[in-house]
Amino acid sequence: MARTRIDNIVFELTQACNQCCRFCYNYWRDGSTPLPAPDPSLARKTLRRLLSQASVGTLSLSGGEPMLLKNVHDLVLSARFKGCQVNVLTNGTLLTESALDNFHSLGVGAIQIPLLSADARVHEHLTGLPGSWQKAVDALGRVAALMPNGAYAVLVITALNAPGIPETLKLIGSLGVKGVMVNRFNIGGMGLLHCKELTLDSKTLKQAFADVEAFAKVHPDMRFVSGVCTPLCLMDPKPYPHIKFTWCSTDFSRRPVTLTYSGDVRFCNHSPYVLGNIYERPIGEILSDPEVNARYSGVPERCADCPLLSRCNGGCRAASEQVYGTFSQADPVLEVL
Ligand code: SF4
Ligand code: SF4
Ligand code: SF4
Repeated sequence: MARTRIDNIVFELTQACNQCCRFCYNYWRDGSTPLPAPDPSLARKTLRRLLSQASVGTLSLSGGEPMLLKNVHDLVLSARFKGCQVNVLTNGTLLTESALDNFHSLGVGAIQIPLLSADARVHEHLTGLPGSWQKAVDALGRVAALMPNGAYAVLVITALNAPGIPETLKLIGSLGVKGVMVNRFNIGGMGLLHCKELTLDSKTLKQAFADVEAFAKVHPDMRFVSGVCTPLCLMDPKPYPHIKFTWCSTDFSRRPVTLTYSGDVRFCNHSPYVLGNIYERPIGEILSDPEVNARYSGVPERCADCPLLSRCNGGCRAASEQVYGTFSQADPVLEVL
């Protein structure tokens, strides 16, 4: 049987994590449930199953925290062997020198590590882990030294760290990091509990992106990408030409289809809804199922007559799934403000 081509998969290796970020969008994080321990052999089996069903362009290893998997390098090797580009999305606190060397030897293309502030107290207030700031700073510096084009800092912009953006970017630049993801706080998971504290009002959000834009303009050797769709009625990206804004789509070739270590398939990493399981039917069949796709065809009522709909698509509607249980409402950030 021909394998389905999927350009981007986020593979969640575990639900567990050694941090407890206030903004963590993982839908299973609500601060109450004990999380299952990593299951390396199930993760390996699921990866094998995936790669027998699909040809994957880029596989991003995520979680939870992927470095909690003792066989993470074996997983990278298996994916590389099948021709995948592999990225690692980690909080950096467990990225030892030898772990990083191994990733580099195996041809990992990119490693993303959140650095939320130049002020350790702000970073650690957001991550919930004392000592995490220094570890993230060290890890990012080491990744940048070894993989100059593959080091990405992730700056999740919240109301708490927005005022310090210029200093944070200065720190990131001083570490030799050339790639920065600037993602606005997107409601979901632990972020639901801390929504009021973290959500940016329109003025602060625009100022935050203006600060990024000002920095980007004078640092042409660095790249800035915003990967969370924001409703255009909240913020238009036009005034920020040095930041690349990406837009997702219901077309699975243009979004990060997500697979868990136990085989569940979801629309993207923010979406909580399970579309099917690859142990029950092939991922290609799940993603092309008309019933599954019907779930994503609704137009939010407030957007129905909006001339911006085709560009904006109602913002991040996986966030709507987390908050309202449906993809058919516009991004909840419009209601929180
Ligand atoms: S955001 Fe990442 S590092 Fe933070 S708790 Fe969630 S999975 Fe862990
Ligand atoms: S499509 Fe909806 S969310 Fe987007 S700009 Fe229009 S009204 Fe706002
Ligand atoms: S629905 Fe939201 S989280 Fe999912 S791909 Fe689109 S913007 Fe990203």
